[in-house]
Amino acid sequence: MTDTRWNGEPCKARRITAVVTDDARFPLYCARDLVGTRRSVVEVEYGGETFYLDDEDGSGWNKVTHGGSPRWAHSSITIAPDTIQPRGQLADPDKPCLHENFDALVAVARITASDTDPTPIAYNANVTVQCADCGEPFRWTGLRAGVSHRQPMCNIDETELHAPLRPASADPDFGLGLPGFAVTFRGPDTPNSTGQPTTTEQ
Ligand SMILES: [Zn+2]
Repeated sequence: MTDTRWNGEPCKARRITAVVTDDARFPLYCARDLVGTRRSVVEVEYGGETFYLDDEDGSGWNKVTHGGSPRWAHSSITIAPDTIQPRGQLADPDKPCLHENFDALVAVARITASDTDPTPIAYNANVTVQCADCGEPFRWTGLRAGVSHRQPMCNIDETELHAPLRPASADPDFGLGLPGFAVTFRGPDTPNSTGQPTTTEQ
């Protein structure tokens, strides 16, 4: 879940669309021209109240995901609650998700010299990224499948980056001596193709 805040305190917020209604309480209501139109809106639940921010330009979501502090501008808007539709692929399967928010997971693995020698001899970062709204995983482009201590590679379905890295103070060849492997897919025109990936030493 994305961390959302109002005035620095945690709040519940979700991205929706809704139809704008008039708000007679404000004579200078800035959204009066928009009455009757469907807009992108952020619904905020905070301090026992529910209110709405215009998000057609992303400013509402930007605000609640940056601490909700007063220095992030926003436009309050009044909407008809019965017109609320969540945004994202799950809400409307006919419309593709625009993939506007992301969850990224980074895990750094340490490889030690042996079970008895705790000296680290290599590091590898494993990175996955998915859309926070619809959950679709993202694939890495241009990488071979496998694990290498010389170059970034990825897993077989390309959703996980395996990238070697080293402490800034280490020599450039840190970790390079370690073996890895590459996964090769045999094409349909390859004799004796099994359709199974094979691995080669890297
Ligand atoms: Zn998405």
